Amino acid sequence: MTDQGNEGLDRRSFMIASVATVGAAGLMATTASAQTSSSDATASAQGTIYTGDVIDGKRVITSLDIADLEPGKTHRLYFKGVQMPTGQTWYVSVMVAKGAAPGKRLGLMGGVHGDEMNPIHMIQTVMNQLDPAAMSGSVMAVFDVSRPAVEGMARRWPNSGRGIDLIDINRLFPGREDGPDAPLRHAGLVFNRLLRPNLDYGLDFHTAATGMDATAFHLARMDIPEVRAMAELYPIEQIFDNKAEPGLLSNALIDAGIPALTPEIGLPRIFDHDMIALFVEGTMNVIKHHGILPGPMGRTGKDSNVFIADGLFPVIATHGGFIELLVKLNQAVEIGQKVAIQRNTFGEVVAEYAAARSGRVGARRTDATAEPGTPIIFLLFDSASAIGGDVVVE
Ligand SMILES: [Zn+2]
Repeated sequence: MTDQGNEGLDRRSFMIASVATVGAAGLMATTASAQTSSSDATASAQGTIYTGDVIDGKRVITSLDIADLEPGKTHRLYFKGVQMPTGQTWYVSVMVAKGAAPGKRLGLMGGVHGDEMNPIHMIQTVMNQLDPAAMSGSVMAVFDVSRPAVEGMARRWPNSGRGIDLIDINRLFPGREDGPDAPLRHAGLVFNRLLRPNLDYGLDFHTAATGMDATAFHLARMDIPEVRAMAELYPIEQIFDNKAEPGLLSNALIDAGIPALTPEIGLPRIFDHDMIALFVEGTMNVIKHHGILPGPMGRTGKDSNVFIADGLFPVIATHGGFIELLVKLNQAVEIGQKVAIQRNTFGEVVAEYAAARSGRVGARRTDATAEPGTPIIFLLFDSASAIGGDVVVE
């Protein structure tokens, strides 16, 4: 299975592996995938199905059609995901601000990786600012897409089908309701019965993986005009213009005809309120851009002079040992510049790392140790201005 092969890979690795994937081949793959997935898009015809259960005052659903919800109100629901090995259920928290008038439908997703907390607070903050009575259209929030991963403050879903497998659900979308493991089925249920039938646009919020920090940035396919328009509405530091891997929620949405991107809100595991505020401002801009709420735009990427990069170059540890970083996030780095020193347990220098090309620091390691093969720093660059040479692909 896909995830068996990818089990050792995490977000950092996929970014390495996907450095050179932008372009025509990616677009062709998108088209082919859209054709094969359209035949099973039947969930939208199901409407909203209530199980009759109520948990902590929230009604339980197995399928949602926002058209069925009362306009001008905010609705709080539990979506019934896949079952646990005990037969209990992984419920997912859903909030819908449904405008008094019809209009565009925007989705805000968090918790696809369970150690990424900034997105959850960011989405809560946006939802609390919305007045459905003044809205045209809807904003749907899903806070904890990969519930077991969120419960464990872990990136991956601990799946017990064959002994514990740690499954990265953001490699599984659009999922399969009849798939051979629970996370794949959960991804299919969420995608087919909750997200795809109810969204015109999607934002799947993430952070750096545990062990890394990152600037305020997006992973976004800037070749898609409607994606680009949303991405540029955030007053953030960087945009990495890249298709990334198949299986990402944002890519599955795009394949289903729903423009989407992956905003990345800094560090995992914590609430960084300064950085959260940037993404709240950007998301409110997106809501106004789509005419869901009236009002003036806040600051955008123009104001923050956002750096749009189409290339990523990792600095990878060649030794095991303790890392001392010599560069900060978003710092401009010249080719040949020393960016990190590594020492062994005796404090002796075992490696020094220099930038193999010029760029800006997009992410850097926060764990003090690194073993051979661990990315220490990611440099983002714009290929139009970059120095030639092969990009390291793992
Ligand atoms: Zn993530």
